[in-house]
Amino acid sequence: MPSIRSEAPRQTRHLVLVLGDQLDPTSSALDGFDAARDAIWMAEVGEESTHVWSSKPRIALFLSAMRHFRDAQRALGRTVLYTEMLADGATDTLAEALARCIATARPERLIIAEPGDWRVQQSLEAAAAAVRLPLETRTDRHFFATLAEFNAHAKGRKQLRLEYYYRELRRQHGVLLDAKGGPEGGDWNYDAENRGAFGRSGPPAHAAPVTFAPDALTREVIALVHARFAAHPGDLAAFDWPVTPADAERALDDFIAHRLPRFGEFQDAMWHDEPWLFHSRIAAAMNLKLLDPRAAVHAAERAFRTGAVPLAAAEGFIRQILGWREYVRGIYWLFMPRYLESNALGAHEPLPGFYWTGDAEMDCLKDAIGQTLRLGYAHHIQRLMVTGLYALMLGVEPKRVHEWYLAVYVDAVEWVELPNTLGMSQYGDGGIMASKPYVATGKYIQRMSDHCSRCRFDPAKSTGDDACPFTTLYWDFLMRHETLLAGNQRMALQVRNLGRVSDADRAAIRARAAEIRSNGGAPSRSLTLL
Ligand SMILES: Cc1cc2nc3c(=O)[nH]c(=O)nc-3n(C[C@H](O)[C@H](O)[C@H](O)COP(=O)(O)OP(=O)(O)OC[C@H]3O[C@@H](n4cnc5c(N)ncnc54)[C@H](O)[C@@H]3O)c2cc1C
Ligand code: SF4
Repeated sequence: MPSIRSEAPRQTRHLVLVLGDQLDPTSSALDGFDAARDAIWMAEVGEESTHVWSSKPRIALFLSAMRHFRDAQRALGRTVLYTEMLADGATDTLAEALARCIATARPERLIIAEPGDWRVQQSLEAAAAAVRLPLETRTDRHFFATLAEFNAHAKGRKQLRLEYYYRELRRQHGVLLDAKGGPEGGDWNYDAENRGAFGRSGPPAHAAPVTFAPDALTREVIALVHARFAAHPGDLAAFDWPVTPADAERALDDFIAHRLPRFGEFQDAMWHDEPWLFHSRIAAAMNLKLLDPRAAVHAAERAFRTGAVPLAAAEGFIRQILGWREYVRGIYWLFMPRYLESNALGAHEPLPGFYWTGDAEMDCLKDAIGQTLRLGYAHHIQRLMVTGLYALMLGVEPKRVHEWYLAVYVDAVEWVELPNTLGMSQYGDGGIMASKPYVATGKYIQRMSDHCSRCRFDPAKSTGDDACPFTTLYWDFLMRHETLLAGNQRMALQVRNLGRVSDADRAAIRARAAEIRSNGGAPSRSLTLL
């Protein structure tokens, strides 16, 4: 049995910094680790839970996974210098906690794998420079592509588009290729088969996902979060997330066996009180690096090759991980820090208060926000075409929308959250991520879910007391940005349809949209919150 050490070796050679989203036991930062001379540094600091108003499930997941990683490393006989957060502790920063540790451990060198967050990278570099210690940043092997490879792909291109990068990665990594090196099945992309809705009878029978009941360590963390972050949004009663690599592997196996077969078909569909449907629930495990994305991609390809799932399901899932996940990381690092401040549509409204409470009159928003606060989860179309769409058309400042998404989802880490929110969902980057703003009336939500049949609003109406706020704000959005959108070919049909709206209707839509804004984003004054 190896000894468990929590003191620094007398003469620390390397201090290996491990952040809450770097819990990979095979991380490059641990290459060459010498248990006799090196130590791992980890810290739970208040700032990481308060720089955005982090939800309780998100804080609990990070702290629990960190403590499990610490204990697993100690069981290997490694020294882990770990700062636990106290229930009533002061809010300190990563840089302050690191400076304290350096003063006692006196390492010769600091080592880290590439951080996932520009802000954290800057603060750790400054902390190292302040004490004149070398900080060696190693390539993060978790991803299929390095940042240098993405930059080489981006160089000289007028426009960056997922599709080309995705094909490049498929070829380079030999994923879903036929014997001649072309795409399996003849097409690179089966997106057109990924847009099914459930119809009146609702989702077909499906098994509930495997559960992860909190163990003693997680229960300890849950008590801490209740005590220290009582005022933060969200709930912990249903906390049920993988917190170790073994849990993450089980979550992946369960998805591949039970939900992947219909993942492609129903990827965009929504249904009241059905948070998981055919989704994998593995984003948080991957983003904390408990799960290797190669394991997910290879498992999906294997399921296709053994005939267990259709090609469109395997390709649709693989495109999200080998495609989108790698692509958004490249975008983030290529455009930060200016990306964070971009606001191409000049949007300046505040975020409606009901985003923090779920107390909304609109069934689609109430359901998506409610489950987000309860579980720390909503699937992609709920994020893009319900909460994101509403904020975009209302005209909320993109940075405020970003802060909400970063706070409430258990899988939220800035490198993946920011391009999805500010770019794909809010068009704040003016078209780097998406070739057009994703805007739609309430009829899109009606087609893809049962929400409208449970709602007092009518998705076909844009004016009047029972007008669907999405439909009102859709036409208002087109009017407010008509000149800009007229120059975008992909918006031509929508702009042409706007041309058919009479002056009287335009005025009535504008008035209704102004009323919604003056109510803080709610259609009725009585529900204006916070
Ligand atoms: C406004 C907005 C904010 C988002 N914020 C985050 C975030 O903070 N963290 C995050 O991991 N994803 C984010 N996404 C992408 C996506 O919504 C989530 O990855 C997904 O919903 C997680 O649930 P799941 O694991 O069940 O995914 P599934 O639907 O089962 O998809 C499989 C996997 O593909 C990857 N993936 C899917 N879509 C994307 C995407 N657009 N970008 C990157 N990876 C993707 C994820 O790793 C996911 O686990 C966001 C999307 C939008 C529109
Ligand atoms: S009618 Fe409008 S607000 Fe109500 S659920 Fe449908 S889309 Fe949402």
